[in-house]
Amino acid sequence: MNPFLDLGIRHEVVNAITEMGFEKPSPIQEKAIPVLLTGNDDFVGLAQTGTGKTAAFGLPLLELIDFTQKHPQALVLCPTRELCLQIAKDLEKFAKYIDDVHVVAVYGGANISDQLRQIRRGVQIVVATPGRMLDIIGRKAIDFSNVKYVVLDEADEMLNMGFQEDINNILSETPDTKKTWLFSATMPKEVRRIAQNYMTNPQELTVGTKNTGNANIEHHYYVIKARDKYAAFKRIVDYYPEIFGIVFCRTKIETQEIAEALVKDGYNADSLHGDLSQQQRDKVMKRYRDRSLQLLIATDVAARGIDVNDVTHVINFSLPDEVENYTHRSGRTARAGKTGVSLSLINVKELGKIRRIEKIIGKQFEKKQVPQAGEVVEKQLLAMTDKIRNAEINEERIAPYLPSIMESMQDLSKEDIITRFASLEFNRFLDYYQNAPDLNVDARESDRGERGDRGERGERRSRAASNGYTRLFINLGSVDEFSRGDMLGLICDAANISGKSVGKIDMKGVFTFFEVQDAEVNKVFEGFQGTEYNGRAVRVEVSGDESHSGGRSRGGDGGGRRRSGGGDRDRKGGSFRGDRRSSGGFGGGERSGRRQSSSSRSRY
Ligand code: AMP
Repeated sequence: MNPFLDLGIRHEVVNAITEMGFEKPSPIQEKAIPVLLTGNDDFVGLAQTGTGKTAAFGLPLLELIDFTQKHPQALVLCPTRELCLQIAKDLEKFAKYIDDVHVVAVYGGANISDQLRQIRRGVQIVVATPGRMLDIIGRKAIDFSNVKYVVLDEADEMLNMGFQEDINNILSETPDTKKTWLFSATMPKEVRRIAQNYMTNPQELTVGTKNTGNANIEHHYYVIKARDKYAAFKRIVDYYPEIFGIVFCRTKIETQEIAEALVKDGYNADSLHGDLSQQQRDKVMKRYRDRSLQLLIATDVAARGIDVNDVTHVINFSLPDEVENYTHRSGRTARAGKTGVSLSLINVKELGKIRRIEKIIGKQFEKKQVPQAGEVVEKQLLAMTDKIRNAEINEERIAPYLPSIMESMQDLSKEDIITRFASLEFNRFLDYYQNAPDLNVDARESDRGERGDRGERGERRSRAASNGYTRLFINLGSVDEFSRGDMLGLICDAANISGKSVGKIDMKGVFTFFEVQDAEVNKVFEGFQGTEYNGRAVRVEVSGDESHSGGRSRGGDGGGRRRSGGGDRDRKGGSFRGDRRSSGGFGGGERSGRRQSSSSRSRY
């Protein structure tokens, strides 16, 4: 027998949820449904989003409501418009085979007259966000005197968003005899107070341990220097080619900056924050749901109520100010019994915050290393070979072209073809990751330690020419058709320094050594940061004894997802693309040197 029938759910509903793919109850459903079906008790359920709590309260409601009556009998309050719509939609789907079920979604930012019209026509279940609900109550457009059940969904979120007073006012419109069912991912004292004030001996249920995050979520952290954060972030993203993630930032500006930089670097990303109109938000969410977007960059507030399944990673680009918010963020992954990873990019000082979060979620974080360049390249290559292996083949349409293709390839062995294929896709990627530095803090510290703990600045100085000049290396040379004068012009232009600050210029084939006054060295690094010449990232380093390609580049870890495109400025037929944005924003701005203007959405 279907386990939902066992729990006391009627056939019609079981048929509908079977069509939705519900085979057996989730843990919260298994525990809550029998309690709620009695209709006799107040109830507190501690459960994360994505655990199936909508059905945990929705299925019992469908059993308890008298659908021959057309007045409101149940009120579901939730924090966001998205969640409100989702709950209403789910309830309608559960009730697909029951006659005369009327559910209305009442939320702000939409035409109120449509909502009022639906209410006038007669509804049994009202799903609402608090603000709009109060508005409608204020207009005396709804009668809650027959409400038997009130559900407070994501109660902690509603309180976080400042709906406490609205909730009090709404609840005071409902009869004292009603039963209140409260669901919350966390149980801060404010939520506890609601339970105390509005409920009598509520039945309390916890899925997992109290306040514990979903057991299917792994929690990782990476310790990174602030200035390496963006580079490390991209490297991690590159390491997970199939990532479908939500990236959390602390501010709107940060979300926008990161989304912009990512798009320029060839990633499939967009931002979601409070400054967008509802229409813009809907558009972004639709693209994310459709998977046209791979990375959604969001603030905590904007991401509330996001109910997209299959999110593989939640990335805390910045940890939340309130550690409690971490649970909400990480709850966006590992929904509906799936697994997921919540990873945080932190600096050494934030370790304490990680320990506090561990206490809240009752789970330990795993410290991870930012993948090394070689590991990323290998991962990407394997993902590509998987793609080739699983490519869909349209036999009929490709058939006419095959003979000539076969002919043109006939002198190549299988190994030749595979090598060429991989190289074709990956040359630029390999180029980019060649010499990319280790971004882990400990690695960088010990690296420095071995060199006498001088730090980057000291290191640079240590190799300075003794005459007050530092000898630098740049990966452009005579093969790029530069004369010494051209090179001087380029350096002065890029660094915004006078020609007097530049000493000897020693042009080689593919690179050049040049001297710059010590005081101007940083300007040169900053000036060339994120620039490219003829589609090649420009790299400037302090010239040392070791191989030039092995030194520390300040050009940035530009992400492997590059596109081809033009440049800002022409020089001898080559194009130089400068990035003069301030390096502020997100931690030193080691953004990609691969700024390109192509509108192609391909990642490489
Ligand atoms: P919720 O926590 O209610 O937002 O549910 C999260 C997701 O899990 C939704 O997509 C539901 O459709 C799905 N879901 C809920 N209960 C079950 C179940 N028993 N079996 C399979 N999927 C479920």
